[in-house]
Amino acid sequence: MRTVDVAIVGAGAAGLAAARRADELGLSVFVFEAKSRIGGRVFTDRESLGAVWDRGAHWLHSADVNPLTRIAEELGHPYLARPRPFDGRFHLGHGWGGPAEWRGYREEFETAMDRAAAAGAEGRDVAVSDAIDTSSRWRRMVHHIFTAISGLPPSEISTADIAAYRDTEANWPLERGYGALLEARYAGLPVELSTPVTAIDTSGGDIALDTPRGTVRARSLIVTVSTNVLASGSIRFTPALPDAVQAALAGVPTGNANKVAFHFRRDIFGLPDTSYVSFMDERDAARPACSFQIRPFGSELAIAYLGGDLAANLERAGEAEMVDFSRTALGDIFGTGIFKELTGIAATAWTTDPHTLGAYSCALPGEAHRRAVLAKPVNERFFLAGEAVSADWFSTVQGAHVTGIEAADKAAAFLRRAIAKARGR
Ligand SMILES: Cc1cc2nc3c(=O)[nH]c(=O)nc-3n(C[C@H](O)[C@H](O)[C@H](O)COP(=O)(O)OP(=O)(O)OC[C@H]3O[C@@H](n4cnc5c(N)ncnc54)[C@H](O)[C@@H]3O)c2cc1C
Repeated sequence: MRTVDVAIVGAGAAGLAAARRADELGLSVFVFEAKSRIGGRVFTDRESLGAVWDRGAHWLHSADVNPLTRIAEELGHPYLARPRPFDGRFHLGHGWGGPAEWRGYREEFETAMDRAAAAGAEGRDVAVSDAIDTSSRWRRMVHHIFTAISGLPPSEISTADIAAYRDTEANWPLERGYGALLEARYAGLPVELSTPVTAIDTSGGDIALDTPRGTVRARSLIVTVSTNVLASGSIRFTPALPDAVQAALAGVPTGNANKVAFHFRRDIFGLPDTSYVSFMDERDAARPACSFQIRPFGSELAIAYLGGDLAANLERAGEAEMVDFSRTALGDIFGTGIFKELTGIAATAWTTDPHTLGAYSCALPGEAHRRAVLAKPVNERFFLAGEAVSADWFSTVQGAHVTGIEAADKAAAFLRRAIAKARGR
């Protein structure tokens, strides 16, 4: 194979955006993807349950300013522009909570968020749990939402990370799925599927990437794998990644989240389409909280969301445990009679997926400043991209998207400089 201008490792939201940008800039580009599909942590599953659901990203976060919202509009992919913050329902184990309970919990959560962000903004990069009230009635629900946002429990989330995130509170789900949007946007890009890069050598004239299909050469390089994958050593770098990058990977690990989807024969919930139900059992203080999407866009699905420590622990305990936890909660909310109409169950396992090793990145307390290290070029022709690299939209698809475009621009600038130098200008 000839030497390409830009080699990209990973065909997730960042790698695909980088490839498209590089192509638009007239560069030759090649993308290597370990999985047999594109999208990475954005994957619309149409097969496991005979209904469409997103195994990973589902929401257009900060949707009113998210560049992917405009792309969805251009491609005719509908989304639901929900009010912010949107209304949900609350089940307390012994029965449904009313508006007062919902308000009480929302106020508690917003106060916690404000305190965490204020600590971070003041330069106190401490654990979120050190900045918030962890004894309130709603603490388990607040814990759940922080884990859903950050992928780690509040004791492991940096307040500075919380302060840095740019949130407009507009969270809009895509009807056909986020994965379907990426598939539509990026069809036709040169992606080599089922081709894990095992080693990268940046010490020579050209960069060399080893894959099971042979070695490929490139003039510049964009690596988009998650921080945990990068830290795992599954790609061997020569020379080794700089110490500062390795410290940043350790300080900004990939947190955890999983979903369990239940498919039913018919509507047995009696709620409006695309309802959201939070569950915190007040009968059992040891039971973690979780939440459900009910009948998104009228599909016969109920999808449990498990975050952080709960997601990781259940995944490690095995799919049966994860399903059992979610199913018991769903049965407690709607009655176990609903399972007479159950037609299928599917669960994700992002933490043990060797190509992601987690769901989305989160800076540990005291470590938020290290994200900036990930955003710097590793060397003049080697750039990192991906959600963890974003200064203000980390953990999201739009963060990955923006950093992919920026990395392609940096690669193009390097190549322009290299050509000018070769011509002696
Ligand atoms: C359960 C869950 C829910 C989420 N919900 C949302 C949401 O609602 N909204 C939102 O905005 N974000 C959400 N996210 C986060 C979002 O999915 C990610 O932030 C984003 O998709 C990351 O994109 P990326 O390109 O940085 O990384 P990835 O998608 O991980 O892309 C990297 C790619 O590299 C590949 N790869 C790994 N190793 C190699 C190798 N050696 N060689 C070649 N390829 C390799 C991987 O297979 C992968 O395809 C969610 C994530 C999860 C898991």
